[in-house]
Amino acid sequence: MLKDLFGKKKKYASIPGENAKKDVPEGLMQKCGGCKKIFYQKELIKNLNVCPECGHHHQISAYDRIHILFDEGSFEEWDKDLLSQNPLQFPQYEEKLEKDRIKTGLNEAVVTGEGKIHESRTAIAIMDSRFRMGSMGSVVGEKIARAIERAREEKMPIIIFTASGGARMQEGILSLMQMAKTSIAIQRLHRENGLFISVMTNPTTGGVSASFASIGDYHFAEPGALIGFAGRRIIEQTIREKLPKDFQTAEFQLKHGQVDKVIPRGEMRDTLGTILDIHGFGGETVESSAGV
Ligand SMILES: [Zn+2]
Repeated sequence: MLKDLFGKKKKYASIPGENAKKDVPEGLMQKCGGCKKIFYQKELIKNLNVCPECGHHHQISAYDRIHILFDEGSFEEWDKDLLSQNPLQFPQYEEKLEKDRIKTGLNEAVVTGEGKIHESRTAIAIMDSRFRMGSMGSVVGEKIARAIERAREEKMPIIIFTASGGARMQEGILSLMQMAKTSIAIQRLHRENGLFISVMTNPTTGGVSASFASIGDYHFAEPGALIGFAGRRIIEQTIREKLPKDFQTAEFQLKHGQVDKVIPRGEMRDTLGTILDIHGFGGETVESSAGV
């Protein structure tokens, strides 16, 4: 009991070191994942969770991203209540899902819907890596495919923000099927000249990087995002070679033509708004032409 008393005393942030994470009171201070400096969480949130010192982009929730991107009050969510089943009776899968639902306030690892960016109406899917590492199970794939289909039917563009560790192993082959399903939906959209903007955030790996994320009309990425299929260690062991230090970062992919532009979070809304406008999705343009 005496030990408990002393244990609770540490409410200040100590000098960063090996155990710095333990010493940072949760919900007040946050250690930057890039420069390891400690900041008031409020300060980081105000800066869109981007480190003011080193520019490291911390992960943000799907709803925070919606808040940053869309014109105020314009977002309408789709398919919020689709829930994952446990088709393979995988042990403890339901418990894990429930735990993540409580932790994140989300029903699944993706939020889909529509809204307006600079007055341009667009469909959107935003993955959230806090939920089962953003892995793509049947519900994630279904929600994304439905959003793409709806964008196609309603002649809207679609923007997909990816953040994923890959396929959801608890759903086995059903999870892998989502790669084909989402890719086919994009192909249908493209056949009807639809616009798909893929924005890869940290991390975009595995089945998501190997399906819809890589078949956009535009491929954007957030600075420093990890983008790749298999992990560094697996590749190094397979080819028996050391890989460059910046391998699989957004900047590396930009250099090698896999990404068209690396866009800092603070510039994302304006850049997307401009592109939607260039493609003729600007709200005002549509209305004025309808009036003629
Ligand atoms: Zn930093």
